[in-house]
Formats: sequence, C-alpha cells, structure tokens
Amino acid sequence: MDYARLADKALAGECLSRDESRAVLTSPDDEVLDLLAAAYRVRRHYWGNQVQLHVLQNAKSGLCPEDCNYCSQSSVSDAEIDKYPYLEKEQIVEAARRAKIAGAVRYCIVASGRGPTNNEVDFVSDVVRSIKDEMDIELCACVGILDEAKAGQLAEAGVDRLNHNLNTSERYTPEIVTSHTYEDRLGTLRAARSAGLELCTGAIFGMGETDEDVIDVLSDLRELAPDSIPINFLIPIQGTPLEEIHELTPNHCLRQLALARFLNPSAEIRIAGGREVHLRSMQAMGLYAANSIFVDGYLTEPGQKTADAQEMIADLGFEVVAGEAGAPVENAGEAGNPMTAGAPEQGIRQPEVVGAPGSGA
Ligand code: SF4
Repeated sequence: MDYARLADKALAGECLSRDESRAVLTSPDDEVLDLLAAAYRVRRHYWGNQVQLHVLQNAKSGLCPEDCNYCSQSSVSDAEIDKYPYLEKEQIVEAARRAKIAGAVRYCIVASGRGPTNNEVDFVSDVVRSIKDEMDIELCACVGILDEAKAGQLAEAGVDRLNHNLNTSERYTPEIVTSHTYEDRLGTLRAARSAGLELCTGAIFGMGETDEDVIDVLSDLRELAPDSIPINFLIPIQGTPLEEIHELTPNHCLRQLALARFLNPSAEIRIAGGREVHLRSMQAMGLYAANSIFVDGYLTEPGQKTADAQEMIADLGFEVVAGEAGAPVENAGEAGNPMTAGAPEQGIRQPEVVGAPGSGA
C-alpha cells in the first residue's frame, strides 16, 4: 500500500475508500513505520509537533444504572472502585483552581450516570458559573445523555464543550450496552451542537469489534466533525463483563490511530484510556498520529504520571502545548524528516502550557 498517497488524500480533504481503510488496519507489522510516517504528515500539517495534555476530574463516581459492559461504574460491574455522588461544589471549583494554576486551558467535569437530573444540571451550571466568574478557563462536561434544554442550560452557564463518546459502531453497540442506543448517543451530540457546544466524541477499541466496526465508527465521527476525538483502548477491568478481552497489540493500536487521523485529519485526536496497557513501550509512537493524551489516570484507573508523559514528549522532540483553546494550527509545517522532526515549527503561534510540571504547577 502506498501510505503517502493516503496522506495526500487526507490532506486534500478526500475520504479514504473502504478498501483503503481496511488496508490500513491490516497493514503488515513491517510497514507500520511507513504508515505512521504518512499519518504524521497529516498530523503535522494541522498540529505541528504540539501535544495537549488533559486531566479528568471525576465529579461523581459509580452508582450508574446503565449496563455499559466496558465500564467499571456500570450496574453490571463488580469492580472495586470508589463510589460517590457529586462532590461538593467547593471541591470541584478547587480542582479547577489547581488546573488553572498548573496552566491548563481546559478543565473537564465528568459524572457517571445515564444523564443528569434537572437538579444535577442546576448544580453543574452553578459550579460552572462560579468557575467562569473566578478564572479564564475552558470547561468541558461529560454528564451523559442530554436533551437540548439541558444542553442549552449548560452552554448558557459557561460550558464550552460536551464529551459524549460514540464508543463503537451502530452495529456493535447492542453487544456492548442495552440500556441505551447508538441513536441516543447521536441525539445527545445533536442536542449539544444545537445548543452551541463544541463536541468531543470518540471510540473505544478492543471490545471484540471487527475492523469493519472500527471503520464504521471512525467514518461516523468524520461525518460529525467533532473538535476532539478521544480514542480509548479497552482496559479490561476485573469485575466488568469484558474483563477477559485482551485483543489489541501495540501495532494494531497504531494502525487504528493512523486510520483515525486519515479519516479525521484536522481533529484533535487524543489517545485516551488504555494507552499504557496496550501501547506499552510504543506509547510515544502513537503521538505521530495523535496530538493529545490524558495524564494522571482515568476515571477509575491509574495512568501515566504527568512528569513521565512530559519526558516522553520531550524525548520525541515534541512540545507540551495547547493552541488557542485547542484549535488546530492549519498548515503548521511540512518540512523535515517525519520520523525524527524535533524543533517546533516557525510560525506556529505561541501556545499556553497545559498542566506542565515546571510551568508554575
Ligand atoms: S459509561 Fe457512563 S453511562 Fe455507561 S455505565 Fe459507565 S458511567 Fe454509566
């Protein structure tokens, strides 16, 4: 396969054909470096060598009535996790203060559950107003299924972006969750967009889906054109129905990230949960396709510490930054050896540091 031609197509705004997408996902191990070099050309065009770091704040944990098979907080999970209702307002605001002091441009409030009650929307709105009154920081909310009225209330309070993942293809969704549908998820995203919220929506790979499902969900994400696409690799948490699934290899994760980049060239693509478990010693390679990672763990699982992530990024010759509220840097630079490029591109606007040790944290 001529992977450089796939990069050309992506940069020209053309969609890969189904056969081309399959060829990416079935590329031989000894061609993965060529594949990554092509994906990196697209990533570099939009994002230069920037890497965004994100930190999650689990504002409400466990106690969820939904039956998402991958989730340690679900009604079908026996996983031993902390369970608590919404934190106190001051605890959430204080965490936002710490994020701001650390230099974060975006703070994400995450709550378990099918979706917020009216009282919970009032509570989150109140918290958001207090944070926005006090500091200049972008706010993301991940609070489950929303209708337009609730999304509008959150937007009015000051939420900038909503996270709500598609997770997997429409075909495979009933194998993963029965208490809500793929259409419910799309409906929430439509409501959020109508309310003027930016969209953050992505997938979880390694749940037993086929390559066709991976292509389907990445294609649906292309149609949605979200600002941000988190790619999770299943962490098979003991006590969840998917605890025995171990299907991913580091190279296959890299293929999936490369395809995510080709199909969604300008999106902020974030390597999310499972990076440490599945990419292992090849975590850094993922950043040739993706431009964003989580640090300091996931909702109920530990993860790579910020300092270690910083070291990894520095070793790559990349830089920990966030553009203006995470906006892509169009045509950030095409020159240089794609697999060894290190120096920040001239002409990239100076970004703010996100949560970087040594930046005042
Ligand atoms: S993913 Fe969300 S909705 Fe599904 S079980 Fe977990 S907390 Fe509940």
